[in-house]
Amino acid sequence: MTPNSDPTVQPVPASVVHQVDAADTTLHNPQHAVIALGSNIGNRLERLQSAVDALADTPGLKVKAVSPVYETEPWGVDPGSQSSYFNAVVLVRTTLPPSSLLERGHAIEEALERVRDEHWGPRTIDVDIVAYQGVISDDPRLTLPHPRVHERAFVLVPWHDVDPAAEVPGHGAVAELLTGLGHEGVAPRADLELSLPE
Ligand code: ADP
Ligand code: MG
Repeated sequence: MTPNSDPTVQPVPASVVHQVDAADTTLHNPQHAVIALGSNIGNRLERLQSAVDALADTPGLKVKAVSPVYETEPWGVDPGSQSSYFNAVVLVRTTLPPSSLLERGHAIEEALERVRDEHWGPRTIDVDIVAYQGVISDDPRLTLPHPRVHERAFVLVPWHDVDPAAEVPGHGAVAELLTGLGHEGVAPRADLELSLPE
């Protein structure tokens, strides 16, 4: 079954931004990685855009695609105890090894003044490495793919938008996982758009 033959899987929204440029010729042996962004404090769209811009500014990294923005219910907390998130997924190609990509993600979180005290607490920005090529690792500092991605529609929905054929290493096709999970609590914000820096 092709992903788009499934009536529960929506077609790629027009707002998906793809960069078709010479990244593959300017980076030597780049690897594909998928990064999830989430924000539920302050100007959430601005924070997501700042994170995209910071990723794009990273030496050895090219942002290839930026997903549409979704507004999602907080996960793992009492309903109503936190404001909703804006989430998006970014596809990159990079010569950075996974550990350096994680470090870069943490540096971006810190630069955007993330509040770190509370696990699953509100944060200005969360930068997660969803997947790095087909790498599987259970290292707690960098678990690949991200340990909860296969059950997080708020990551899988935008990931599917930018890569309908995507697979979660060890868990199967994103489209199939979404068929099981559904899109509940993950609302497209077609009125908002992240831009992909030149
Ligand atoms: P979550 O993203 O699950 O809400 P945090 O952002 O607070 O939680 O992450 C806690 C720790 O998870 C980080 O310090 C990081 O080292 C670790 N971690 C493990 N795997 C990953 C991954 N794939 N991406 C980002 N962080 C990860
Ligand atoms: Mg995180």
